Formats: sequence, structure tokens, C-alpha cells
Amino acid sequence: MDLSEITREAVLDVIGECDQLGRGRFLERYGFEPARRYFLRHDGVLYDSKAIVGVAHRFVTGRPLAADQFSGGRETVGRLLDRLGFEVVVDEPAAPRRRLVQVLESLRGAKTPDGPARHQPITLLWAMGRAAGHRPRLVFWRDANTELRGLMREYGQPSSRPTPEFPILALTRTDVWELQGHVGGIPPAHGEPMAWLDEQNPSFGLATWAYELIASDESARSEAIAILGRRFFNGSLPEALLGEVGLRQLKRGDTPSAQDWSPLEAYLRLCQTVEAAEARGDHDRSTVSAAREQPVRSSASVKAVLIRSGGRCENPLCTGQPNDVNKDGEPILEVDHVHDRAKWGRDHPIQMIALCPNCHAIKTRGRTGEQLRELLLLEARARHSTWVSQV
Ligand SMILES: [Zn+2]
Repeated sequence: MDLSEITREAVLDVIGECDQLGRGRFLERYGFEPARRYFLRHDGVLYDSKAIVGVAHRFVTGRPLAADQFSGGRETVGRLLDRLGFEVVVDEPAAPRRRLVQVLESLRGAKTPDGPARHQPITLLWAMGRAAGHRPRLVFWRDANTELRGLMREYGQPSSRPTPEFPILALTRTDVWELQGHVGGIPPAHGEPMAWLDEQNPSFGLATWAYELIASDESARSEAIAILGRRFFNGSLPEALLGEVGLRQLKRGDTPSAQDWSPLEAYLRLCQTVEAAEARGDHDRSTVSAAREQPVRSSASVKAVLIRSGGRCENPLCTGQPNDVNKDGEPILEVDHVHDRAKWGRDHPIQMIALCPNCHAIKTRGRTGEQLRELLLLEARARHSTWVSQV
């Protein structure tokens, strides 16, 4: 594939489009995976180099290139961007666990006369507790702020005021945190952000990769707790705080026996089952009657998604958590193919999601169903990739 006719102007135009859509939606629209190694750096922001070049090709032929029509990397995309005067950087994103440790080790808060301020660590512990309990990842400001204020009053340094507005914004500078649902830029944490938060009511929580890591990997969770205890709580976290946020660690005797699969192992095995069937081709359509071909819906995919969900609706903006369970004592969740299986959407956890009945109804017949579908597609993919990247 000849990329040589792509111009600098075309690349700049596509960078603008990516800024406008946001990275996730941009990649989704053109069918590219996030870059792993080669990034285009422009005005301090990293872009997925292959996706940008593929889309810029539209100015040569009228059509963007698909991801499988050309190869990315240093020799092709890297050389072109270099010639057009762009900076290409090599950056290998760390595995989730190492990434989390890096953020926690470098977390910096204000100093108080009693020691380091604890607002950010408390906020992170609160969010980690939600992940450990498989509660929804993102929470609206109005729903979270009283609880966070209480935790800070109880467990913060005696000389600092309980101000959740500060860590919620300050943490957005780190890779583990996500704040969304607001219009325009985020004000500086040290300004007067209360009015902004009250008016915009954004939602926030751990980024998907960090949420999934904490939800599925108990030893990563213990390591994170240990780091925060050592750095901010004179050695170790108060048991009462861990209990309050839902992070009380299992005692030695409580660990599951070796014969039991961990959720992670079970998930990986089920995905392998599905992928092996896909590779054989017997997963695509049922052969009961050639005249009425039906896409197969495997029980392995559904089981895998339910394990991944931990029994909670996977919509990051789910507002209702039904406490009720079905007659078998299991959570009332419906597993949905984000791209309809009836229209041959892939029968694989990477594009399947567990939803509570309300979120499922919004997706299939709600006014905001289309937007929700895009969000769910990204969420399913992010959850899946974090689970499989832990091995
Ligand atoms: Zn829901």
C-alpha cells in the first residue's frame, strides 16, 4: 500500500477530527485498535499513529484505509510521519499491574502539619472498594460527595478539611482516574471547583483498566493497599477504613482452594472455548436447516460475561442496582450482544455485556440507546482486554 501521497495537511485535519470525536470514538468509527507502540505526538498529545495515517489516506483516494489494508510500525507509518515533519514516539504501555503501582508510587498530595494529605488516597480506596465489590465504576458527584466527605472527615489528617472536590479533580492528572459527562474543560483542582461540580454533576471513578484489575486480581489489590498504607498512613491502612470502603482483606483461611478456578482463569478458559469454536467455523451458524440459518449463541460466551460482571450491571453509568435476585438466588442480569447477534454480531465476550433489565431496555428501545451502544462497545472491549492482558 502506497502511503507516500499523504500530506501534512491531511494528517493535521485527521488529528483535528480525532480531537473532536475523542480517541475511543475515533478508533471505533474507523475500526482501528489502540496503538501499542508507535504514537504520533502533536502539541503534547499522543495519537494512534496507524489510525491517523489510515484515515488521512481518505484525502488521496476518497476513502480511509482499513486497519488490515496496510501495516503500521516504524518502516511504514513511522517513516511517512517523520518525512512530514511529525514526531513519532515509541511508548510501550505497561501491563496494568505495573501501571497501577507506578501511579500509586508517584502520587503526590499536599503536605499538612500532620503528614501527607490523604484526600487522594482515600478517594482511590473508595473507588477500589467499588471495583472489589463489583459496583458500577462511575458515580455522579451528587451521589458520591457526601460519602467521600465523611470518609475524609474520619480518616483524613486532623488538620485538613474534608474536601472531596479537590482529589476528584486532581486525580484526573493520573492515568487511573476518569471524569466524564461534563461540558468544556476541567477547572484547576485548587480553584473553587465546588460550583462547577454542582452545576455539571460529572461522574467519576477508576479508569476501566484499573477497575478491572482491582475487581479481578486480589494480589494486585493487596499490593495497592500496601503502597497507600506505607506512603500515606504511617505504615498500614486502618482496618476500619478498609471495612468501610469494602476492601477488608480476606484472612488466610478464606482463600479459595487450588482446585477452584479463579474468575480470571474461568474467564480465559471460556474465551478459549469460544475462540476454538470460531476457528473451526462451527460457531457461526447452526446447520439444523440450511434454509433457516441461525447464528449460534454459545453458552460459554454468556458464562464468561457473567463472570466478568461479578454480578453487577456492566454499564458504567448504570444508576440502579437491583438488590433483588432471581429464584435461583442469582443476580438479574441479561447478557447482550452490543452488535446484535441476529445481525451476525460476533458471539464473543469482547462485544458482549451484562446489563440490568433497565439498562438493557434503554439500549434496545431508549431514546439514548445509540449513544449507550457506543459506550458499551468501548466498555466491553476495555474490560475484555484488561482481563486477558493480566496473564
Ligand atoms: Zn444497569
